[in-house]
Amino acid sequence: MPTQLSGGFRFVAASIAIIGAGPRGISITERLAAYLRATPSKDPLTLHIIDDAQIGAGRVWNTTQTHTLCMNTLAGAVTLFTEPGATVGAPVLEGPTMYEWIQALRGEHSHPLIDAHPHPLPTTFTEEIRTTRPESNPSRALYGEYLRWVWQVALAQLPEYVTVVEHNTRARSIREDGDADAIELADGTVVHADATVLATGWVLPGLSPAQQAFTDSGVTYIGPNNPVEQDVDRLAPGEQVLVRGMGMGFFDLMALVTIGRGGRFVEDASTRSGLRYEPSGREPHLAVTSGRGYPYLPKSEYHSLPPKADLTRLRAAIANSQAPVSFGRDLWPALARDTYAAYYTTLARVRPQALKLPLDEVLAAIDAVDLDTHASAASIFPVAEALSAACADLTTEPFHLADWADPLAGTETLSLEELNHHIGQRMAADIREAVAAADSPIKAGLWVISAGRKPSAIATENGRGPREAALSQYMAFGQMVGSGPPLFRTRELLALTDASLATFLGPNPTTEVSTSDSASDSGSDSGTEGTYTARSHSRSVSATALVDAFLPGPDVRTSGDALVASLRNGSRVRPFAPGGVETAAPETDASTRRTVHPDGTLDARLHIVGIPTGKQWADTTISPMPGTNPLMLQETDKTALSLLRQAGLR
Ligand SMILES: Cc1cc2nc3c(=O)[nH]c(=O)nc-3n(C[C@H](O)[C@H](O)[C@H](O)COP(=O)(O)OP(=O)(O)OC[C@H]3O[C@@H](n4cnc5c(N)ncnc54)[C@H](O)[C@@H]3O)c2cc1C
Repeated sequence: MPTQLSGGFRFVAASIAIIGAGPRGISITERLAAYLRATPSKDPLTLHIIDDAQIGAGRVWNTTQTHTLCMNTLAGAVTLFTEPGATVGAPVLEGPTMYEWIQALRGEHSHPLIDAHPHPLPTTFTEEIRTTRPESNPSRALYGEYLRWVWQVALAQLPEYVTVVEHNTRARSIREDGDADAIELADGTVVHADATVLATGWVLPGLSPAQQAFTDSGVTYIGPNNPVEQDVDRLAPGEQVLVRGMGMGFFDLMALVTIGRGGRFVEDASTRSGLRYEPSGREPHLAVTSGRGYPYLPKSEYHSLPPKADLTRLRAAIANSQAPVSFGRDLWPALARDTYAAYYTTLARVRPQALKLPLDEVLAAIDAVDLDTHASAASIFPVAEALSAACADLTTEPFHLADWADPLAGTETLSLEELNHHIGQRMAADIREAVAAADSPIKAGLWVISAGRKPSAIATENGRGPREAALSQYMAFGQMVGSGPPLFRTRELLALTDASLATFLGPNPTTEVSTSDSASDSGSDSGTEGTYTARSHSRSVSATALVDAFLPGPDVRTSGDALVASLRNGSRVRPFAPGGVETAAPETDASTRRTVHPDGTLDARLHIVGIPTGKQWADTTISPMPGTNPLMLQETDKTALSLLRQAGLR
């Protein structure tokens, strides 16, 4: 088809560029193939796939990375295939979940796609393949192999008139060149595209001024990144290291500097963690802190895929809601009632003697509490307190949701030693609850909190609900109780605490760095000598290195990434700004994911999907789960159609 360029017309095949070849880039390719197979194009198409990481796995799921790092999701709960009934425009392509694929590799059953596309794995995966169960947390490398297999399947679905060109390099900028995008790559190539999509995942925002100051100080500072790309070799054996962040990034770091350095966790029933750490002698000492100050909670060990949470009241509240939806006022009271109901329903089943009234009456009491006066856009706590108060005398084991949202409340005056004793005791209790799993009232309540995130996000996405403080507070709480590590990692952390290799500082730290005068010109590879000091209330710790073990979300307004900057400079994007309040996400169109220009017009070619758009669209970070009509696959489907249209093939 003719493409008008600055230098005149060029008669070439239509061209689509996909920047980012992780799960979304793969899925978009598969959806393009599904549309083209359903309604063939009369014109040829060149498909450019651009990624400087491993194409068909991407940066996070690179198949060559250490097997020590695992997925946070479960083998039986991940797929990259659409299913019958999915909300997609192109025919579904049914394929195996990751676990079904593993079963096929074990020879337990077959699938036509697996027969057609054999994918032998290196022997380093043999033991993991043998032992994986639906509820296992696969290594990230093995998920990468699954993705690479889906990638081969997707490529094979493309009609013969599609030419695929893989560019294993970074996209540096996009500029408009006549009717095309000119995408400049780091290897010097310029790709011309009639339609472009960015499926770039976690593009890091720039460093904050404080983080920049840490970098400039020369004292060892490892900034936020994908953990496997953080240079933990810079942390010396025995060194005191300050770590900020207590979510998955922290647990990854912990594994890399212990198991990754030859240490071993061995089963020991005499310890409170159930494990004993046998050090290699090469691990640093970790002094850990975060906003909440408490590690993300372990996942329940159900020995199966997790049960479905009962969100009856939340779903009814969403069905009755009208825009603008206030999460704090309209949804949270219902979700909090669901949470308390799940706790007491499970308590009635596992310890019926704890109830002073029949369960029906307890549930009726939960539904009878007048929460209107407590519901607030500013905080989730008043509603939780009102429910706790109403239920306080109904059982001998009352539930206090606030205690889970702020686990270190009341510990402000504790010394470092007292705080660590307190956290250790609490983590041991967390382990017991995670082991009890479906028989833990607490886990049942917190599972509702976790499960409520997706419907709440959908109910408030795209500006339907203001981004109020109660919503942010709830999402962070849901993250902590629902997106924590597998239980074995919490056991490992407690074992490290008991081996005096990890110390907790407490919440909301202030951090500063000081350099010793003589050290700045030492020329040492290990950085300038100096000290980080972090304080939480009256407690403090000092360290000679700092690691930020968290991943801040992408920010289209401030990102230092050259590609994002080129889009800003070219006026191809504007921040999504519901109610005039700018967010970090580039605004995209609901039905196509084309970007919106500063003047409100839709871009003719540029699409952005996934994590960078997470402040506008719901559920952008989680891999597609089978049986849920995943939003990610709905998004890749509509984007594929729009790419074909904008490239003139529809
Ligand atoms: C450390 C980590 C662990 C995670 N664990 C889980 C988990 O267990 N379960 C889960 O569901 N989700 C997890 N996630 C979320 C995860 O990012 C998504 O599930 C999924 O990978 C998103 O797919 P994506 O294709 O949108 O982005 P990604 O997988 O991030 O892929 C984006 C790709 O774009 C490429 N790219 C970016 N910029 C450019 C450029 N300028 N030029 C060329 N290429 C570029 C990157 O190299 C990358 O390969 C995790 C994320 C991280 C960072």
